[in-house]
Amino acid sequence: MTTNEFSVYSSDGTSAYTVVVKRNGNELSVVCDCKAGSIGDWCRHKNGLLNGEEAILAAKGNLTDVLQWVKASPVYAAMSDILTAESQQKEAEALLKKAKSKVQAAKRAAANLVNPLVKK
Ligand SMILES: [Zn+2]
Repeated sequence: MTTNEFSVYSSDGTSAYTVVVKRNGNELSVVCDCKAGSIGDWCRHKNGLLNGEEAILAAKGNLTDVLQWVKASPVYAAMSDILTAESQQKEAEALLKKAKSKVQAAKRAAANLVNPLVKK
């Protein structure tokens, strides 16, 4: 088992928490001593660290090893699936928006064509 320890900023930036990442084979475990993290929640510190956000580090730390561990872990595949789904969701939302504005334009055009109240 290999362990890496990091000091990360709290959300208000005034204090720091400790995040410990452990690797056992391809299995990763990550703990954080913030309020959410200490009850086992997936806190922003664990998330930020495993996403390679160096800005979250309160003290100098090297994320290179951890990022390699993440890539080899089942967590990474799941995170990739989410990123793919989010990107597909954005594309679908853009298509939906385009389709809605086409419908609006068509309705407007139709209303002008058939409205007998409009005098020319
Ligand atoms: Zn935390």
